[in-house]
Amino acid sequence: MTKLWKRLDAWARWLLPPQCQLCGLPCPGPEDLCPACRLTLRPLPGGLEAPRGTARRPFAPFCYGSGAQVLAQQMKFHRRPEAARLMATLMAEALPRPFLGNAVVLIPLALHWRRRLQRGFDQAQLLSLWLHRLTGLPLTAVLRRHRATAPQSRLPREARSGNLAGAFYAASPPQPGLTPVLVDDVATTGATLSAGRDALLAAGWAPPLHWVFAWTLPPSPP
Ligand SMILES: [Zn+2]
Repeated sequence: MTKLWKRLDAWARWLLPPQCQLCGLPCPGPEDLCPACRLTLRPLPGGLEAPRGTARRPFAPFCYGSGAQVLAQQMKFHRRPEAARLMATLMAEALPRPFLGNAVVLIPLALHWRRRLQRGFDQAQLLSLWLHRLTGLPLTAVLRRHRATAPQSRLPREARSGNLAGAFYAASPPQPGLTPVLVDDVATTGATLSAGRDALLAAGWAPPLHWVFAWTLPPSPP
């Protein structure tokens, strides 16, 4: 964030103190989240360890099913795109420092254009944009959807991976020397991340890392 942006942001907060994005109470701190609501975000057990080559284990600061779930649902289902900034801030804060020095490029797990039109925004794209802004990591939106798929949240777990098979394609060739990082708001079964990963691998990209705000699964043993 530039100095000018930070100063403007501080002035805006002074003139109009923000409200907590979860409970609506005035929130004086730098985050749009009051201390009580901050405690409802349950960190993922095991913390944030670097994936060990499998890329099936995402970086995720929080467990889904806590305040993190409420925040993610508010953004998506109650159409509050402003929650993306807070979610990205929390994700960036939790990221291990060495990650920022790595040669990586952020890639949002894009929605189909029809879904984006219905919702008015694409949550993965918004999160990626904020992460790019906050961390300076490069961003490229190469993943596209061939077709609109049924919302994963309405399907039983066993049907989720079939629903997404072949749903994505990579619109650009790999960027040499850069490890792709797939970004999404939540991961439940990991089916969307796997479908995005398959599309990148098919286009010649390196195996991607995954970075989500909240994850339902406990970390697998090392
Ligand atoms: Zn609150």
